[in-house]
Amino acid sequence: MTLSENSFKKLQKIVGKPHCSRSKADRVCYAYDATAQVFLPDAVVFPKDRHEIAAILFLANKENFFVTPRGSGSGMTGGALAVNGGVILVTTRLNRILEINRNRFISHVEPGVVTGRFHQEVEKRGLFYPPDPASSEFSTLGGNLAECAGGPRAVKYGVTRDYVLGLEAVLPTGEMIKTGVQTTKGVVGYDLTRLLVGSEGTLGVITRMTLRLLPLPETIRTMTAVFDQMEVAAETVSEIIRRGIIPRTMEYMDNASLRCVEDYLGIGLPREAEKSEAKRS
Ligand SMILES: Cc1cc2nc3c(=O)[nH]c(=O)nc-3n(C[C@H](O)[C@H](O)[C@H](O)COP(=O)(O)OP(=O)(O)OC[C@H]3O[C@@H](n4cnc5c(N)ncnc54)[C@H](O)[C@@H]3O)c2cc1C
Repeated sequence: MTLSENSFKKLQKIVGKPHCSRSKADRVCYAYDATAQVFLPDAVVFPKDRHEIAAILFLANKENFFVTPRGSGSGMTGGALAVNGGVILVTTRLNRILEINRNRFISHVEPGVVTGRFHQEVEKRGLFYPPDPASSEFSTLGGNLAECAGGPRAVKYGVTRDYVLGLEAVLPTGEMIKTGVQTTKGVVGYDLTRLLVGSEGTLGVITRMTLRLLPLPETIRTMTAVFDQMEVAAETVSEIIRRGIIPRTMEYMDNASLRCVEDYLGIGLPREAEKSEAKRS
């Protein structure tokens, strides 16, 4: 359903004219995500808080236009694309870290906070938020939650879902809900938090979240091992874990990736790894 002139004017009223656009330039900029597919929205809105988000969704429900939430547009599932037109609702103005509580190991944040910034802020206080998608420097916590993002540290620490204690969200009707708890133990009732995490914006717009933190690990050591055969490398990974050692991350690079990194960084990686054995056999 295309956004009508009348609905657009009402959206402008909700968020203010500077935060609502249907210029071609803005619509093109918000037509993409990391899938490189293109779906032009009818308009882009930048609400500042949950009340504006609630008003937008209430209007959309009443006047029948689509709304697609979006953080930084780095998702790889197409979830932030206006596949059916309508409005892209960008959360980047909701970018406050409301509280980092060292005593309770929790934090209250808004969805537009960039994940890398959040990592820095909690680590300054001796705390640790493990989920680390490789897009952390630009993706938002809201997008990470909606995608249930993982990252290299998931080997040891799990994924985003494991660090979300509670949420506030606005449903497609415009109603606001609160889910979950603010404590490590939360066992009562339906687990709506887990339903919303990973729902890719289809169930509502997350407007606030309570995240679980850990103490910052005291030291991190990194080691590299070079293998002539991919199979032996894979067996070694299984053997390390079988022996009860869970590394913080484990990354495997085949010869092609290794050469790309070496061409780019020139840090002395062995260009012949894996390949030398292939030649011999
Ligand atoms: C270079 C690169 C590296 C990556 N590395 C990893 C990785 O290592 N591990 C991994 O798991 N993933 C990885 N990803 C994908 C990762 O899941 C996304 O980058 C990230 O989670 C999306 O965040 P975003 O702010 O860009 O969200 P967007 O792309 O804007 O949105 C993603 C989804 O979330 C929804 N959404 C956004 N905000 C809200 C909200 N407030 N409420 C409800 N729904 C919302 C959108 O509708 C959409 O469905 C990578 C992506 C890139 C481009």
